[in-house]
Amino acid sequence: MAKRRPRPIDLTVAPDAATAFRRRLHAWFRKHSRDLPWRHTRDPYRILVSELMLQQTQVSRVLDFYRRFLDRFPDLYSLADARPKKVMEAWEGLGYYARARNLHALAKHVTTEQDGVIPSEPIALRELPGVGAYTAGAVASFAYEKRAALVDTNVARVLQRVFAPQLRPKSGPGLKQLWLIAEQLLPRTGKTTWTHNQALMELGALVCTARVPRCGICPVTASCATFPLLEAEAAGADNADAPPARKGKRRAAMTS
Ligand code: SF4
Repeated sequence: MAKRRPRPIDLTVAPDAATAFRRRLHAWFRKHSRDLPWRHTRDPYRILVSELMLQQTQVSRVLDFYRRFLDRFPDLYSLADARPKKVMEAWEGLGYYARARNLHALAKHVTTEQDGVIPSEPIALRELPGVGAYTAGAVASFAYEKRAALVDTNVARVLQRVFAPQLRPKSGPGLKQLWLIAEQLLPRTGKTTWTHNQALMELGALVCTARVPRCGICPVTASCATFPLLEAEAAGADNADAPPARKGKRRAAMTS
């Protein structure tokens, strides 16, 4: 018997659904976001430093390194002029040293070839050392308030759970489709895109976390396709023949 082809998945987000999701997400972000130093600047150099430091590294670990690094190299030119040894010293302890080498190479390139101006468009940003699709979107939207999408691990998880539980966020095609969803969700203006992208990342970091999604405090349950599935799972577990103490435990992530 011939194998059936998998049905194509429709990943179109209806405009009304996108608007409702954004409204809930942005309102939550305005109330619950963390006060982080890179959210107080639009300086592309500072945004780049923060974004490279945050790759594979938790916010709490980055905070001190970020301040110290910028005290030592306050702008692109001071970094470009530094000796490699000094740059590595400032990065010491943060790990993934290729990031420091890339940042140094980027500073040299931009100061010698581009008059010290970090580009604002994702396509041009991606030409720079160490800048991938996510970092390009982050610099464009956070420094220049461009209407640019971004998808990192946290954002991929949120978008997959909310809009496409059937997708595998870590597969190449799955990730590509999540980028398409991210683009459909973008607000109309660049200024609101800053809030939108920050809010998506914050939700993934604080609420829709990798290990246990904290649906009980999530602002977008009404938009989320995974939420009813988790609720049904929790209800099924409650109805199963389990001792009362364990039933309560299973429901905790859904309600707190
Ligand atoms: S409702 Fe739950 S699964 Fe859905 S986005 Fe919120 S935390 Fe994640």
